[in-house]
Amino acid sequence: MASLKRILVTGGAGFLGSHLCERLVADGHDVVCVDNFFTSQKSNVAHLLGHKNFELLRHDIIHPLWLEVDEIYNLACPASPGHYQYNPIKTLKTSVMGAINVLGMAKRCRAKVLQASTSEVYGDPEVHPQPESYRGSVNTIGPRACYDEGKRAAETLFMDYHRANGVNVRIVRIFNTYGPRMHPFDGRVVSTFIRQALAGEPITIFGSGHQTRSFCYRDDLVEGIIRMMDAPDDFSGPVNLGNPGEFTIRQLAEKTLALTGSKSKLVEKPLPVDDPERRRPDITLAKARLGWEPTIELEAGLTRTIEWFHSVNIADFRAPTPNY
Ligand code: NAD
Ligand code: UDP
Repeated sequence: MASLKRILVTGGAGFLGSHLCERLVADGHDVVCVDNFFTSQKSNVAHLLGHKNFELLRHDIIHPLWLEVDEIYNLACPASPGHYQYNPIKTLKTSVMGAINVLGMAKRCRAKVLQASTSEVYGDPEVHPQPESYRGSVNTIGPRACYDEGKRAAETLFMDYHRANGVNVRIVRIFNTYGPRMHPFDGRVVSTFIRQALAGEPITIFGSGHQTRSFCYRDDLVEGIIRMMDAPDDFSGPVNLGNPGEFTIRQLAEKTLALTGSKSKLVEKPLPVDDPERRRPDITLAKARLGWEPTIELEAGLTRTIEWFHSVNIADFRAPTPNY
């Protein structure tokens, strides 16, 4: 069929990438998943290995890769603060050299290429909620800069390849997303709170817990990414993808306790440097251009995520960094 495509997903074994691969394989596309397993494990895609339209390649995206594809989803990059700060120089290399490598491939193959950018390009925002037109407030020399500036540079590369070489690019800015297959030791707030609640350990609230985030369920997010890849060619973005429902971290802790029935205590820990105080996406553009908005409320998504945490054996997961 003419609509079937050869699709590369970098970071395809990760939390979001593995669900994206699942969707694309189910739609019948020929999917190549490339991953170096820095923050994921093969078990995330083991169920796809038997499919004749799925291929798994262990490869580090900072090195060039020679494939012939029609579309590229560039998701390879450590995403949680603990993971991306573990080896900050490698994080920058992954964002910048990874972008150059997929853009080079897209240019050679005339492929469409989508970049998984982030709300972190807005830094600790002075504008709330954040529209795509806001240019951000990032501390260029702080501990989050390896990720924030790497993703900002990647956006620049995408737009320069588009203007200079006519590459068909797409940029999505993803806001905090959660769901099944988050690494239990990634240190992100949803996975950490659920793991702590289920183990009866103290729930670690950083700072006062009054900082806010907006949490999008994985399935909604992946639907948005695919719609952006399929959008008309005159729309490169960037476009925000996230759930506008905004919660304090303390509210998230209380919801997690209620949904797990845990008796864990809340304990305060120091707030990490440059931790953004407020974050909420303005998704007007995604609604208008992609007809997309999230459908899964926080409690429903947390319930599904908690079910998944119940279904796995935490001991099967290797903590990729000491930062958990
Ligand atoms: P994840 O850590 O589960 O997935 C990232 C994947 O990339 C992992 O499988 C990892 O092993 C792989 N990877 C890392 N460096 C690599 C390299 N050099 N070469 C090849 N593979 C490499 O995280 P995720 O939440 O699934 O994030 C996926 C993408 O979405 C990332 O680019 C991230 O920056 C972006 N994003 C995610 C969120 C979120 O809330 N989940 C928010 C904003 C942006
Ligand atoms: N956070 C927390 N306790 C934890 C982990 C995170 O209070 O054990 C806070 C963190 O300080 C931040 C928010 O939760 O304010 C979201 O953190 P996460 O690492 O999930 O993502 P990001 O800061 O990149 O949005």
